[in-house]
Amino acid sequence: MQGPSPWVPVPENSQFPLSNLPYGSFSIETEGPGRRVGVAIGDHVIDVGAAARATGSPLSHLLEGHVVNPLMAAGPQTWNELRAAVTAWLSDTRYQDQVGPHLIPRRQVTMHLPFEVGDYVDFYSSEHHALNAGRILRPSGDPLPPSWKYLPVGYQGRAGTVAISGTPVRRPSGQVRDSLDVTPSFRPSHALDFEAELGFVVGVPSDLGHAVPLSAFEDHVFGVVILSDWSARDIQAWEYVPLGPFLGKSFLTSVSPWLVPLAALKAARTDPPPRDPPPLSYLDDADHPWALDITLEIKLNGRVISRPPFSSMYWTAAQQLAQMTSNGASLRTGDLYGSGTISGPRPDQVGSLLELSWGGSKPFQNPDGSTHTYLADGDEVVITGSAPAAGGGTLGFGEVRGRVVDPSDT
Ligand code: MN
Repeated sequence: MQGPSPWVPVPENSQFPLSNLPYGSFSIETEGPGRRVGVAIGDHVIDVGAAARATGSPLSHLLEGHVVNPLMAAGPQTWNELRAAVTAWLSDTRYQDQVGPHLIPRRQVTMHLPFEVGDYVDFYSSEHHALNAGRILRPSGDPLPPSWKYLPVGYQGRAGTVAISGTPVRRPSGQVRDSLDVTPSFRPSHALDFEAELGFVVGVPSDLGHAVPLSAFEDHVFGVVILSDWSARDIQAWEYVPLGPFLGKSFLTSVSPWLVPLAALKAARTDPPPRDPPPLSYLDDADHPWALDITLEIKLNGRVISRPPFSSMYWTAAQQLAQMTSNGASLRTGDLYGSGTISGPRPDQVGSLLELSWGGSKPFQNPDGSTHTYLADGDEVVITGSAPAAGGGTLGFGEVRGRVVDPSDT
């Protein structure tokens, strides 16, 4: 069904049609450092707080700050009201005089983190990725740990090092053991990698001691970003037993600037893959299937190296939320949880260089004939994503971009 048409010009194939309306935090370079909340439409961003004031919206008080946390905390009814209002402002020409002055070309703005990050969790929920990683890291053992098909495996990450797309990826140093028969040394990582993921952002908090059921996913989770979980495989390999990832990942996690509301992803909902064994009842999602048909695209130095399909994930974000709170752990507004590396079944669908280079043992070819394993200084990674939009066409998230810099660069 075709929805309303915007009076703002939206180029064909734009990531930001009227059916998307993602939220971000922007500043205008020519106007100093002031950050405010914006919504992307075509090649523009609308200063949504200013538009709310201009139209006399009762929701304008939620849009006064520089991040979307107050709006996210207000809950689904308010989210829907504002979404309907912004849709009307941008499609009903009667609003053109009030709203038009608050549209800014996106090329004139600088984007910032759209939300203040609460807690950060990262999962490990692609079966294809977990099988690949298990075979690479533990070639003689069972690639999947015994719990893997019973629960979404995850770890608590470092919220303070989540940063906006474009933040330089400073090669970390750490303790590394180069082979089984040497003592460890402290040096820059030789195995710097990305993990292409989606990030889910919590809006409505929950009470300590009370689990959030899978069926309440839409009552708590506001939206989705693209996420790159930068990883130093050599640091990770030496430190991760027995408590999981630590310094090999906590140096930086990048997110895309546009937070796409769940409401914009209705046309992307699809059925998850079959599960065997069947999940325990608190993870049974037969009545709440939240697989999403979102395809990522990863470019390394301008060339597409992979297109991971999110629809192939074994565990959904709704199951991850249920797992994360199943012990009574509470949610805070701004909590971010990563899906885990997204890898499909094919070699051109993997979400990390760990898999693309098979642990660094099988270099892949660059267009100029040189070969690649992990990230070199100067390499640039760009991850984008595409989902079917309501009413036809596709929508996107902006991009996660990161260029690797030597630690001695200032
Ligand atoms: Mn990860």
